[in-house]
Amino acid sequence: MSLLNTEASLKRATEEKYCLCAFNVDSLEYMPAIVQAAEEEGAPIIMEANEVAIAGMGLKYFAMVARQRAESASVPVGIHLDHGSSIDSVKACLDAGFTSVMIDASKKPLEENIRITQAVVDLAKKYGAYTEGEIGHVPGIREKSEGPGSELVYTDPAEAEIYCRESGVQSLAVSIGTVHYMRKEPIQLDFPLLARIRKVVNVPLVLHGGAAVPDADMQKAVQYGIVKYNIAYKGYRAYLQGLSQGLKDIKEEVLPGKIFLYPSQVIKAGLESAKSEIRSKIRLLGANGKA
Ligand SMILES: [Zn+2]
Repeated sequence: MSLLNTEASLKRATEEKYCLCAFNVDSLEYMPAIVQAAEEEGAPIIMEANEVAIAGMGLKYFAMVARQRAESASVPVGIHLDHGSSIDSVKACLDAGFTSVMIDASKKPLEENIRITQAVVDLAKKYGAYTEGEIGHVPGIREKSEGPGSELVYTDPAEAEIYCRESGVQSLAVSIGTVHYMRKEPIQLDFPLLARIRKVVNVPLVLHGGAAVPDADMQKAVQYGIVKYNIAYKGYRAYLQGLSQGLKDIKEEVLPGKIFLYPSQVIKAGLESAKSEIRSKIRLLGANGKA
């Protein structure tokens, strides 16, 4: 199967009202869970990594393994840079073979965000790659997301319209109440705002930071036009729970009196657990059978 054609895939998802899952990766060992889950569900899928994760894995290794996995998968697989912070970072990923990139200049003033995004769109097009941008701001784990001085900035529909039109960005990450971490209390999405954004913006919409969004609201977000849903925490949690169980289950005595250990047994337990979670998210968002 080929690499994901992100543009065509998100267009089809928009028309048929389902949503592609984009799973974050922060270790090479975790990657098979994503690809195998997508294969078992017959779903197109996106593997994405942010700059911290890429630095940890090594850009060269991540890209090489991701490309190999994608090219030998039975479903289309995209390789995406999540939250690219600069043109240099985007270029390094495009050179390494990513199929799409996000440029996140969402904390900069609108004009500057437009200018930077425009440059990334032009660059990515030379590689046949697809660009995602952000307007408003979905805060990270070290940012303040409540009360005075909150760095959670909801997307302004008028700004979103100007940003998309002037930058030529191909998809837009929106801020409608989500945060880049899990919370104990569920997140209430601002659906009226999402509807207003959808009305004035004609590119596919992306949701980040939706770990604490209840399942029913994730599905509702798809009905309101979200066609790429980024998922990190729940996949990672399932993986770690599987690893933890795998460690408990490991038998050091392989045969009576013969002692040995296989780390791959533990990793396999992690992958099986992650795969089951990933498959359930693919089905929840309706991408199963859409490969
Ligand atoms: Zn994000």
